[in-house]
Amino acid sequence: MTYNSEPAGRLKSVQAEVNAACVAAGRDPATVTLVAVSKTFPPEAIEPVLAAGQRVFGENRVQEAKQKWPDLCARHPGTELHLIGPLQSNKAREAVALFDAIHAVDRPSLCEALAKEIARQERRPLLFVEVNTGAEPQKAGVLPEDVDAFVALCRETYGLEVSGLMCIPPFEEAPAPHFALTAKIAARNGLKLLSMGMSADFGIAIAFGATHVRVGSAIFGSR
Ligand SMILES: *Cc1c(COP(=O)(O)O)cnc(C)c1O
Repeated sequence: MTYNSEPAGRLKSVQAEVNAACVAAGRDPATVTLVAVSKTFPPEAIEPVLAAGQRVFGENRVQEAKQKWPDLCARHPGTELHLIGPLQSNKAREAVALFDAIHAVDRPSLCEALAKEIARQERRPLLFVEVNTGAEPQKAGVLPEDVDAFVALCRETYGLEVSGLMCIPPFEEAPAPHFALTAKIAARNGLKLLSMGMSADFGIAIAFGATHVRVGSAIFGSR
């Protein structure tokens, strides 16, 4: 795989690969959102990607996003921000204010904090429940066997509208079974969105139904 050296050129290559993966899977490219993961990159590196027309970005830390994005958003109307990293309950207020989607909902205390802020701020970010498909002890997310009950808890106890599931397959394993498992759990819970696939595997994720691919280094370069 070869990329142009400039981020804007790499963005075009990634967009082309997303489209090709959709065509190969018999899917409409409009059903896949490319989330350009700009974590650790400064505004100067993000500007060219905005100028090239990209409007959906992912960050993994609330504090970093708060420093970088208000200015960029003001200059580029229609920008959408996704929080893809873990969220502490005490940052729920800032997260609901800043982000249009939260990809790592994984515990009742966070649900409670999010429900409170969503009601208070009258903002409705898309919510994804993170699934720890590899049952990795160091990783965030709900274990696959606990997802049905957790989604029910989100809905019934906290009144949250869950839109989808998110997963990060174990680094050393083939991602396909993890994507397949996540898609299966989403389907049986009536969840339409699937946040899965990163720089190394977004094409495979699209074949398994990803609606949101989170792509960082393939666009911005290595971190
Ligand atoms: C950093 C990150 C990505 C992007 O990873 P790349 O391999 O650079 O594409 C995607 N998802 C999450 C949760 C991340 O933290």
